[in-house]
Amino acid sequence: MPPLFRETALQAYLHMTWRHRQSLTKRFSARKSFPGAVLFYHRVADSFPNSWSISNKNFVRHLDWLQQHFEFVSLADTVADQKLGARERPTVHITFDDGYADNMIVALPELIRRGIPTSYFVTTQFVEDQIPFPHDVAQGHPLAPNTIDEIRCLADAGIVIGAHSHSHIDFGKPLTRVELIREIVDVRKKLQDWTGQSIDYFAFPYGLPGNIVQSAVDVIFEAGYKAFVSAAGGFNFPGDDHHHLQRIHADPGMAALINWLTYDPRKTMRPSPFHYTYSETNSGLSSHSDVVSQ
Ligand SMILES: [Zn+2]
Repeated sequence: MPPLFRETALQAYLHMTWRHRQSLTKRFSARKSFPGAVLFYHRVADSFPNSWSISNKNFVRHLDWLQQHFEFVSLADTVADQKLGARERPTVHITFDDGYADNMIVALPELIRRGIPTSYFVTTQFVEDQIPFPHDVAQGHPLAPNTIDEIRCLADAGIVIGAHSHSHIDFGKPLTRVELIREIVDVRKKLQDWTGQSIDYFAFPYGLPGNIVQSAVDVIFEAGYKAFVSAAGGFNFPGDDHHHLQRIHADPGMAALINWLTYDPRKTMRPSPFHYTYSETNSGLSSHSDVVSQ
């Protein structure tokens, strides 16, 4: 759909459903059951726009609008509200996936300056080897990833670093135990070494139901992560699963953001497409090198 037509259609839909959104908001307020929103961005930059980037100006507009309508909270607070089974006010948490160097120019300094809690999910192979992501190479724009020093600086500045696998692998494909260890367990240890932070959260690459399998979820909790995040576009209702938080894709722009975050009835009524079981016993799972040497 052409962007202008899509924007007009979204505005019409927003107008048509406004009364329903207002009654939902009243109900959330009366029951202390506001859903928690978790947004995910990838790259904030003015060059090479695509569907996983947003301009510097639009990103700042997002922050301004969010600041007027939501309380910014950490991922840990979002998880805590889920466990508590109550959320008294509308909250939002900002996350980024992949680890693009361009985010160091405007987005991250602006988030740090405003004191907005932010989670930054890093794909370690591209940072370590300083190679571009295949999806950018395929578009003819090999973009720079962050460096290890930048990741360390962000952690020092209070940004919460999370894991986004080693090689941006699709966990929906058949993987061996050794591959799961490399992509989940070793990444946690590596990021902890780089940052000195405890790495508590994991973001699945691609993040849709077909990309998230029980065997990977099992390894995530065996490895000691506290929760994982997906990208299916839903809200997190208090009392729902606190091991897994759904996120909303924020790159597309202002009209889509406002439409979704004013409690788009399609998003608030949709049942979760995710169903997992959890074993929280931390077995102190061995790293990849330990497994290989056995
Ligand atoms: Zn990614």
